[in-house]
Amino acid sequence: MSLVLPAYDDVVRASQTLKGVAHRTPVLVSHTLNERLGAQVFFKCENLQRMGAFKFRGGYNALANLSDAQRQAGVVAFSSGNHAQAVALAAQLLGVSATIVMPADAPRAKKAATLGYGARVVDYDRATQDREEIARGLVDKEGLTLIPPFDHAEVIAGQGTAVKELLEDTGGLDALFVPLGGGGLLSGSLLSAQAISPDCAVYGVEPEAGSDGQQSLRKGSVVRIAQPSSIADGALTQALGNLTFSLIQQHVRDLLTVTDSQLIQAMQFFAERMKIVVEPTGCLGAAAVFNELVPLKGQRVGVVLSGGNVDLAAFGRLLEQGAQT
Ligand SMILES: *Cc1c(COP(=O)(O)O)cnc(C)c1O
Repeated sequence: MSLVLPAYDDVVRASQTLKGVAHRTPVLVSHTLNERLGAQVFFKCENLQRMGAFKFRGGYNALANLSDAQRQAGVVAFSSGNHAQAVALAAQLLGVSATIVMPADAPRAKKAATLGYGARVVDYDRATQDREEIARGLVDKEGLTLIPPFDHAEVIAGQGTAVKELLEDTGGLDALFVPLGGGGLLSGSLLSAQAISPDCAVYGVEPEAGSDGQQSLRKGSVVRIAQPSSIADGALTQALGNLTFSLIQQHVRDLLTVTDSQLIQAMQFFAERMKIVVEPTGCLGAAAVFNELVPLKGQRVGVVLSGGNVDLAAFGRLLEQGAQT
């Protein structure tokens, strides 16, 4: 089976679709950091995107490209995290009904946010039920369209608009660091970087405990791992998708990993120095830069801060842990 991969043209179309709907998020810098690294670092602040993460871009673009019949029937997504909220908000804005399949024990704040965007939430029991099966059942029974979180051309194209904006604002970069879960954000970022700043070395960064992407790149085929455990809860995917692996394999410079304690240090830096809340997963790219996993001296470096949705009590506990180490 040959895959039809999205291209930069699709990212350009997505950016037109998202104009006036998604925020054009700011690009922030820290002189303290630049001095410490001897580099110029630009942070693309998707923690300040609508619903708190870049996932709004892909979710909205996917829904905006549905046929009238598909819109009328409604959509379904399975997620306990940012993709659920992205699909729920996009559906509300486009007048589409959304069903989100969520574990019964999902954090109350996340469930409340999803319900707040007008979505129907279908609970499942993590221990005994398979969420994909439940979602597929709804597709069969109710004619809903499944919106996958990353392995989908319009989702990838939407996610690529963040780095398109970044590069338009900063001009050419030498290196770019992007958080990696299932690879939708990284794939879209690669399309934009290739088109606008072709010499830029693009790195994907995943939690050390969930290095399926790195293992897949080394092996040359998709590696599936057991459910990893990390505070980077938006990057606990067990495997890349077919589209995302293909784009990553073609264009990425390398895939890197960081530890949870490096993520906590990064969160602390953003809170103290830059006065912004970045969730653990959102810090993956930044942690690779702070720890200079590749040499950066004298370079112009982009970093995607992918999201800011973290329960404030958990945020406080993590910062406290960081302060003790
Ligand atoms: C989903 C998510 C990621 C990972 O994105 P993928 O497209 O799955 O690689 C990174 N950061 C945040 C905040 C997320 O919500």
